[in-house]
Amino acid sequence: MDFKSIIRDIPDFPQKGIIFRDITPLLAHPQGITKIVQGFQTGFDQLNIGAINCIIGIESRGFILGAAMAMALGCGFVPVRKPKKLPSAVFRVEYALEYGTDALEIHQDALKTGERVIIIDDVIATGGTAAAAAQLVRQTGAELVGYGFLIELDFLNGRKALPEVPIVSLVNY
Ligand code: AMP
Repeated sequence: MDFKSIIRDIPDFPQKGIIFRDITPLLAHPQGITKIVQGFQTGFDQLNIGAINCIIGIESRGFILGAAMAMALGCGFVPVRKPKKLPSAVFRVEYALEYGTDALEIHQDALKTGERVIIIDDVIATGGTAAAAAQLVRQTGAELVGYGFLIELDFLNGRKALPEVPIVSLVNY
């Protein structure tokens, strides 16, 4: 599937100068989510990263792709959420976005020590969001073994912010 021809480019959203990569047409395609998950699986298989105990999805588009991936692997799913959404005790990390700043939280008891996990999101831009999610995972004691992104914005070199474990991305701009 040619993902790029289905992903929609929205210039100047949410602010001037940003080309927003809108994945909703791809999600709406009957084969879209299946092909994305297959792409992630192929990528991680090629990297030989081994068994995965849990998928971490970043709010909110990472929930859609991450939950689908968890279903395909037959493993659990843990959400990393925007502040004040999770009801129990959380770890919290603040981070810089391509546009603005934000914070992310994870339930302190969401993962067990040594569990092998992958972080999934729709886009890696500067890498700040995923790096913050990685920090949260480490605070739980789990082991981060990879990242999966549908879209990678190469010109922002977000990989630099995620040096330790392999990255699978399916579409590059
Ligand atoms: P960053 O922390 O800079 O890597 O930004 C990644 C987060 O911001 C992801 O959760 C994306 O959903 C969102 N994002 C950043 N840039 C874009 C873009 N150009 N189009 C769509 N989403 C974006």
